[in-house]
Amino acid sequence: MSKKVRVRFAPSPTGPLHIGGVRTALYNYLFAKKHAGDFVLRIEDTDQSRYVEGAEKYIIDSLNWLSIPFDEGPGKDGGFGPYRQSERKHLYKEYAEELIASGNAYYAFDTTEELNEHRKYHESKGKTFIYNWHNRLKLINSLSLTSEETQAKFDRSENFVIRFKSPQDETLHLKDIIRGDIEIDSNTLDDKVLFKSDGMPTYHLANIVDDHLMEITHVIRGEEWLPSLALHVLLYRAFNWEVPQFAHLPLIMKPVGKGKLSKRDGEDGHFPIFPLEWKTENGTVLSGYREDGYLPEAVVNMLALLGWNLGTNQEIFNLKDLVEDFDLERVHKAGAKFDPEKTKWFQHHYLQKLNDSVLAEQFSKILNKKGVNTTLDITTVVSLLKERIVFVTDLWEQGEYFFVAPESYDEKASKKAFKTETPEILKNIVKLLKETDDFSSKSLDTIIKGWIASQEIGFGKVMMPLRLALVGEMKGPELFEIVSVLGKTEAISRIETAIEFLA
Ligand code: GLU
Repeated sequence: MSKKVRVRFAPSPTGPLHIGGVRTALYNYLFAKKHAGDFVLRIEDTDQSRYVEGAEKYIIDSLNWLSIPFDEGPGKDGGFGPYRQSERKHLYKEYAEELIASGNAYYAFDTTEELNEHRKYHESKGKTFIYNWHNRLKLINSLSLTSEETQAKFDRSENFVIRFKSPQDETLHLKDIIRGDIEIDSNTLDDKVLFKSDGMPTYHLANIVDDHLMEITHVIRGEEWLPSLALHVLLYRAFNWEVPQFAHLPLIMKPVGKGKLSKRDGEDGHFPIFPLEWKTENGTVLSGYREDGYLPEAVVNMLALLGWNLGTNQEIFNLKDLVEDFDLERVHKAGAKFDPEKTKWFQHHYLQKLNDSVLAEQFSKILNKKGVNTTLDITTVVSLLKERIVFVTDLWEQGEYFFVAPESYDEKASKKAFKTETPEILKNIVKLLKETDDFSSKSLDTIIKGWIASQEIGFGKVMMPLRLALVGEMKGPELFEIVSVLGKTEAISRIETAIEFLA
């Protein structure tokens, strides 16, 4: 039997989760569910200097809002916890020491100042300083010092780090599910720091140790981690551990121009790049998809297609479809262009699927906030406007006239619609409306169109001024639907106001 699939989403709680991080979480979730596996959330908070209060909660709230919950993680133990690296601190030291013992790592004592000097010197010669096979014996570490000298440094409690000893003259053959085979010359690697004298591991060590201990089978993460792949594979080799499979997801690119999608793009283009709203330390509020009125289904669908498709023209996928259809092999290598307009298209699609009564309830709240008191049938209003809206809040913009009689008439349209004969026509309409008690749109349609036909006048001569009288502009759904919803008293009053206006 093959091993149970276990994947992890391993964010660092350094601020709000960017939409790219959310996509990584989504792809991990989809892959896990497709293979009846586990989706683990691990909080990588070893770098305390970058820790941001509230970021972990934000990550969890975001996953919950999108309905992509983790099976294991903080507060949800699945036998592999704790799931915050700060709570696993005690674990990492012995692994760092194991690498020293096996000759795969060494102690290095170079101070920050000394390293900066080396960097500057190299820069002055147009070179880059890399701590590796090439110069490690000229630097201050347990490979260049005698064991007595090294011990003396420990006795004086000098600061040290533990560095990985990258191999020399080796071609590394790496595999990535999305990118295929990758070859790396080991001489280009630097001896990365794995452990610091403050007792904390660096990302690389903690990440590998935890993936191993948590029995992660597939590492699915952003392309920005591809340069770390060689080191990670070497670490597995040094520990003699089974290497998980890797999949590096394409970058998410700016909607226009070149480069990665950034916070600035969102600000400039007025679209959120965070799932939920986030208040920064200085009080600025970064907008979120949730607060901007997007449905989680729309965000999930949009993100799923940002780097993946089924190979057909299908664009609409709910979570259930995605779990069935998602496949890492179909994830693209090239960066995925972010398209805020497409997100609105998905939003429109999923909003249409909501029940009118659900939308009516939300719209009622908006009306309440605006102090609108109404006896109109909100559900019917919603059903008439729904097709035209992307967000629930658009209902007001699209249908204010249902609740507030027009105070003026669109100038351009008035010129076209209001003619000398208009008052007379409108008076006739009022008469017809007064005479009928059946205010269904169908009956109104029959009565008024019947009258127009009998008078042998053009439809536009009646319908245009009538719409202006009721709505104030040439917009809105079918006219008799509007009359029907407004009801006898209100409709007649609006038409009479227009007649007075024309007098
Ligand atoms: N903590 C890393 C991050 O913030 C995790 C990278 C990985 O998945 O290995 O993205």
